[in-house]
Amino acid sequence: MLIFINGLLIPQDEAKVSVLDRGFLYGDGVFETLRAYSGKIFRIDDHIKRLFCSANAICLKTPFTGNYIKESLYQTLMGNNLKDAYLRLTITRGISDPGLDTEGCLNPTMTIISREFSGYPEDLYRHGIKAAVVSTRRIPASALNPEIKSLNFLNNIMARMEAKHANASEAIMLSTEGYVAEGTVSNIFIVKDGVVKTPPLSVGILNGVTRSLVIGLAQKNNIPLTEQQFQPEELYAADECFVTSTLYEVMPVTSINNKPVGTGHPGDISQSMLSIFRELTTV
Ligand code: PLP
Repeated sequence: MLIFINGLLIPQDEAKVSVLDRGFLYGDGVFETLRAYSGKIFRIDDHIKRLFCSANAICLKTPFTGNYIKESLYQTLMGNNLKDAYLRLTITRGISDPGLDTEGCLNPTMTIISREFSGYPEDLYRHGIKAAVVSTRRIPASALNPEIKSLNFLNNIMARMEAKHANASEAIMLSTEGYVAEGTVSNIFIVKDGVVKTPPLSVGILNGVTRSLVIGLAQKNNIPLTEQQFQPEELYAADECFVTSTLYEVMPVTSINNKPVGTGHPGDISQSMLSIFRELTTV
């Protein structure tokens, strides 16, 4: 595997970043996870736009243009002879003098890892995944805005550990006010009486690329959808639930806290959303 580091494609064994890099020392940086289908990177412009929003929000000035980042992503994909793949792009604030001050951080580090990925097993989409509402709350926007896709991922990792202990593969995190927020790597949707509901960005969640697409697709296909905050009780009473992300696409959730959601099988709306979404990835 060849890894992109600061403009060069380097064999995995030789691909090294300094231990003085602030990404390593403080989680001081931002990232994106992207996906390529048949050699085309899906919604690349949306991901690059969000990357720049994240970088701006933490005052990380990069010399990289959108076009340069695009070319680098394709260079990494093609350099590894990949068509269906996952790409992880990271930009850190680079190396600085010891301490937290950011002055003098003039050379951000940019890396891209790309691996073969053709999606999760179809069995998961047929049966749905298990999720658990965890006690770890989503960090509030007043502390660190979850709209920033930052390298500080411990909040999500702690939540994911809790989910694993609860025999679930994804955690559902609540906001500090107790509203349903999002998964550790996904946005969440519920369906009740034919209406889809998803938490608004104001609850304090990542503005998921897939989430936005699903909201637009629901509108286009006359599937009623509202962005409204709701409490866990509504989640437990939902007819259907699904989570979305670049890697999950639209993944049905059929069990929450070891209790079935609705019938315990992927619901009709979840399944239609998945197939409507997949039409986009195959063109
Ligand atoms: N929420 C969180 C916390 C995430 O980390 C992710 C993706 O990694 C998502 C939501 C889904 O975002 P996207 O659809 O852009 O992949």
